[in-house]
Amino acid sequence: MTTDSQIHGLLNDHLSGLEEYTPIQPFEVLSQRLGIPISQIVKLDANENPYGPLPAVAEALAEYPYYHIYPDPQQSELRDALSGFVGVPAEHILPGQGADELLDYICRLFLSPGDSIINTPPTFGMYSFDAKLQGAEVIDVWRRTDYSVDVEGIEQAVNGGWQTGQGSSSVKPKLLFLTSPNNPSGTWMPDDDLRRLLALPLMVVLDEAYVEFANQPSRAGWVLERDNLIVLRTFSKAAGIAGLRLGYGIFPAWLMPMLWKFKQPYNVNVAASVAGLASLRHTDQIMAVVEKLKAERDRLLAALAAIPYLRPFPSEANFVLCQVEGRSAADLKQALEGQGILVRFYKKTGLDNCIRISVGRPEQTDMLLAVLHNL
Ligand SMILES: *Cc1c(COP(=O)(O)O)cnc(C)c1O
Repeated sequence: MTTDSQIHGLLNDHLSGLEEYTPIQPFEVLSQRLGIPISQIVKLDANENPYGPLPAVAEALAEYPYYHIYPDPQQSELRDALSGFVGVPAEHILPGQGADELLDYICRLFLSPGDSIINTPPTFGMYSFDAKLQGAEVIDVWRRTDYSVDVEGIEQAVNGGWQTGQGSSSVKPKLLFLTSPNNPSGTWMPDDDLRRLLALPLMVVLDEAYVEFANQPSRAGWVLERDNLIVLRTFSKAAGIAGLRLGYGIFPAWLMPMLWKFKQPYNVNVAASVAGLASLRHTDQIMAVVEKLKAERDRLLAALAAIPYLRPFPSEANFVLCQVEGRSAADLKQALEGQGILVRFYKKTGLDNCIRISVGRPEQTDMLLAVLHNL
């Protein structure tokens, strides 16, 4: 008879040290936990779009007659529409179940146990999460105190630092993950920095989940001129359909045949595709919502700066990171939650005593500010 430990020993070795991902709680769970109806919860903790999908999306979803048919594995219609929106040929575009699925694909395409990536914390957690799933090492090149990327530090880590023990790995890094605007700091990465890093001998993955909110253009077009750049974008933030899971990557031509062989045939479900297409028929309306959120971000930023115990960082995204001064950020988060207002709280290196506030509707900003002033 086999013992439990024999069976447990069948698990992949490199998964034993895996850390749990702490997800954000959805409305239904929050409502139960806080004892507040969903309609009264001010959810500013996950950078979701408070305006939700366009009316045209709800209509398209209600009217679509073919949910009993499998999705198009080639995603032709969606890729053509995306091509028009992004301004790159459809041959370079691959949609996924959120940008998250594409991050997972990229890590599985490039990484095995013993390989390594370069991460630039504080940043989005999924890069190190997906790399560790593959058993790869994560070399952290920390951002500077203003949250700009330490370009020299990355150059050192790539050009030999990995051999002399400066990084955490003895293996030359294969992937570099960059985020612009960065989550959670809202920082934009300048063209010159990106150009310098693209000269390094590794794949650069530029996550542009928030690029629509920036006062700067996307770098998606750069992919056409380089073999080592991937740009990721999403419908979760600007287009307001995070719950439907739709993102896309712009990939260099040489990688596309590999991705077509590699991807799950039906990775993008029909509802996500219908919603994406309806959104892309009304990009003017999406950009109008984005403008509203950008104006609200600027108002929020100015109002937070006027609160004595908060030091907000400038942001090119739909959220604002704040350093809490002279009191506990954990207590602040708790106090806000007691009033039905949810923000993201961090207690980790580089984000000590910080909260991140997503941009909401004006009346939600007003509620937040009233509570912050009264504390
Ligand atoms: C929200 C977010 C994503 C996730 O996008 P999905 O398309 O919802 O998977 C990717 N990158 C960053 C930096 C994000 O904040």
